[in-house]
Amino acid sequence: MIIAIDGPAGSGKTTVSRLLAKQLGISYLDTGALYRVLTLKALEENINLNDGETLQKLASTMNVKIEGERIYLDDREVTVEIRTPLIDKNISQVASHPQVREVMVNLQRKITYCKDYVVEGRDITTVVFPHADYKFYLDADFNERLQRRYKELKEKGLSVSWEHLEEQLRKRDEADFTRKVAPLRKAEDAIYIDTTNLTLSEVVNKLLSYIKKKTIFR
Ligand code: C5P
Repeated sequence: MIIAIDGPAGSGKTTVSRLLAKQLGISYLDTGALYRVLTLKALEENINLNDGETLQKLASTMNVKIEGERIYLDDREVTVEIRTPLIDKNISQVASHPQVREVMVNLQRKITYCKDYVVEGRDITTVVFPHADYKFYLDADFNERLQRRYKELKEKGLSVSWEHLEEQLRKRDEADFTRKVAPLRKAEDAIYIDTTNLTLSEVVNKLLSYIKKKTIFR
């Protein structure tokens, strides 16, 4: 069973998906983390972020490991490093290349092959799993999303100004919604949920109410 969830930054996707997977006793894949690891590696190796071919090679050879909420690149833990403003600033450029996305889509299908997963990202309901068992689009007002992102960074001990974060979120939204390949959009058959005024558990319960628990998971 695949439960596919898309939505913009700060819509609550990551936390909600994690909680939902836990409730259902199935696995969870944060596809944004894969793009984040690739961006980190590209920056560390001084790769020109306009060079789609080199980035594609890097994506197909990178050694990424996910253990619960922890992410490893070449056996080094990068869980916090991949969520810094530096990665936020550069990731849209990396994710815009069709060659990169092709490798990432295959990787995501390989990781989840024949298993029960909650998968979240930007193109999961439209490109990666258009025939998923359940499809959701999570959204929230821009200011609410900005506030959530600010709080998240503060809690991680990362300092960033409100104005800077606002500018970055706007730029990332624009890049995600308007890129030529696999832009973020609500799939026609995805269930739309506005999380602006909902608590995390209210969102999870809403999703659960749509998911008729199947007795036999794949
Ligand atoms: O979900 P998260 O905010 O961590 O994603 C970071 C970025 O990775 C997004 O802004 C987007 O540019 C890219 N991404 C993507 N496709 C996905 C997941 C993430 O292009 N499936």
